[in-house]
Amino acid sequence: MIVGLFAQADVSCTSMDGRKVQSGPLVVDTHELGRRPGNERTVNLSVAAPADLGSVVYGVPEGSDVAIELRLEAVMDGVLATGTASAQVKGECVRCLDELDDDLVVDFQELYLYEDAGEDDLSLEGDLLDLEPVLRDAVVLALPFKPVCDPECPGLCPECGARLADDPDHTHGDAIDPRWSKLSQMTDIDIKE
Ligand SMILES: [Zn+2]
Ligand SMILES: [Zn+2]
Repeated sequence: MIVGLFAQADVSCTSMDGRKVQSGPLVVDTHELGRRPGNERTVNLSVAAPADLGSVVYGVPEGSDVAIELRLEAVMDGVLATGTASAQVKGECVRCLDELDDDLVVDFQELYLYEDAGEDDLSLEGDLLDLEPVLRDAVVLALPFKPVCDPECPGLCPECGARLADDPDHTHGDAIDPRWSKLSQMTDIDIKE
């Protein structure tokens, strides 16, 4: 079943002559830039965020707006892409589970080689370059691994789950967990006997 799915995906992204064809909102055509070193172009993109832009707890919601100011520069070996991406990030505080909502601005720079140079480098597919892996890395690096609503967030009460920031003097006094009080009653009886 899985093998079948992969085979299908492979067919749909390969053109008749076998060359891999890229598609997606973050694929940029560099045709107008040309390949003469020193050529420059500035492009403003407004795209829908791809899935998984960020981590499970904090990231750019899929389909939300991502604005990218992109400068393309032709150099000897390829095209240098330098940009700034702005997006909204959403998630929740890992301590108190409050909703987090913030503006994120990240800078990125990547050289896309004309020649396919192996797995560690990105290259152009014909005139096309795909910003998605670069944007994804920049966003993941910029976001905290454990986001909090406030560095001092005290989290939730371990007794009742109340948000401690709303009620810093939160206390349960000497109240004992019902299970323990039952146990202590049994102990009393034991002692009396
Ligand atoms: Zn919090
Ligand atoms: Zn409590």
